[in-house]
Parts: sequence; C-alpha cells; structure tokens
Amino acid sequence: MRIILLGAPGAGKGTVAKLLTDFDGSVQISTGDILRSEVRAGTDLGKEAKEYMDRGDLVPDAIIMKMMEGRLQEPDCRKGFILDGFPRTIQQAKNLGELLSRLQVRLDFVANLEVPREVVLDRLTTRRTCSNPACQEIYNIKTKPAPGGKCEKCGSPVVQRDDETEAAILHRLDTYTKKTAPLVDFYRKEGILRDFVSVSSAETVQAIKRELLG
Ligand code: AMP
Repeated sequence: MRIILLGAPGAGKGTVAKLLTDFDGSVQISTGDILRSEVRAGTDLGKEAKEYMDRGDLVPDAIIMKMMEGRLQEPDCRKGFILDGFPRTIQQAKNLGELLSRLQVRLDFVANLEVPREVVLDRLTTRRTCSNPACQEIYNIKTKPAPGGKCEKCGSPVVQRDDETEAAILHRLDTYTKKTAPLVDFYRKEGILRDFVSVSSAETVQAIKRELLG
C-alpha cells in the first residue's frame, strides 16, 4: 500500500501504521520517529530539530524534505509505505507530490483520522513510548500499561516523550490546526482523501484495509 495517515497528534497514526505493516509488508515511515532517533544520536540534524520539537513547533520544511527524499528512495519502500506524520504543511504536500511523480509512484489514498479533541488530549497526556529507537512501541498508562515500566517487546524502559508536557501538547494541537489541518482540503480537492471517523485504532485499521481491498 502507499498511503498517508493524516490526523492530529494523538489521533492514533503511529498505532494504526504499526498495525497496518502486518497487512502487506509496507514500511511505516514516521518523521517523528526518525527525528527522535537523530536527537538521541546527537547528529547535527537532531540538534537542530530538537529545539523545534521540544516547543511543539514544526521542524522547517527544507530539513524534512531533504530527509524524506532519501528515505522514500530506500529499497524497503518498494513494497509500499505508510506515511505517519508527513506531510504536515501544504509546502511539504506539494513537494511530496513532485517527488512521487518523479519516482513514478502513485498514492492509494490519504486517510484522514478524525478523533474528538478530548480523546486526543487524554491520549497524549497518558501516552508512554518505548525508549528504544528501534522499537518505539506505544503504551498508555490507562489502557495499555507497560508491565514494570518495561517494554513487552524489547525490555527497554517505557518513558514519556519530551514533547508530551501539557504546554507542548497544547502547542502541538494548535500547530496542527494552523499548519496541518489545511491538508484535509488540499487532498480532498485532489480527490484522494478518505475520512475515518473513529476513536478506536483497531476499527480504523479494519476500515483502511477494506478501502484498500476496494
Ligand atoms: P510526531 O511524533 O509525529 O508527533 O512528531 C513529533 C515532532 O517532530 C513534531 O511535533 C514536530 O516538531 C516534528 N515533526 C515530525 N514530523 C514532522 C513534519 N513532517 N514536519 C515538521 N516537523 C515534524
């Protein structure tokens, strides 16, 4: 499959993407995960990105596009990809469109995950993430606690992300409304937007699979 997952922070993009990779071997590409790995590795890119991320601001488009141009041409993308958290601005969407036509790749559709604001807020404040960059399994202190604070998959400590303080969360939601929500209309006009109104990631995954099977 070749799809974009669009939705507010906390809408469940990461969880849905991980579940969908089992479907046909498509890879999950999360710009947030890539950026967090760069931050942890202390690379120049990571150092530059961290300031924006900690505030809940978007990393500049030029940095993201440079990163994604390379990533989308790696061999594991040939089977398909699930874009999680990218594009996030109209500029990124336009640049992605140009890149995909250059690579002669067509998207199946853009899945717009619509989740009520109170659900998103609750999820973000209770979310915990595996600290192992290669794993990043998602937990929730209410609905999916990590036994003993350790990841069930890899045993690494499960932590709260630096950008999941209340102030940063509110700022991320505001950034979403201003910069990313306009992509809904952008892709609707292109005729490739599909709405998935749900509060459960499992239901969304089933609905996306049905849409893919047509
Ligand atoms: P996420 O894990 O998708 O919520 O991303 C965490 C943070 O990484 C965001 O709040 C941004 O600072 C940054 N980020 C992730 N993806 C992008 C993107 N496509 N464009 C700009 N910044 C991004």
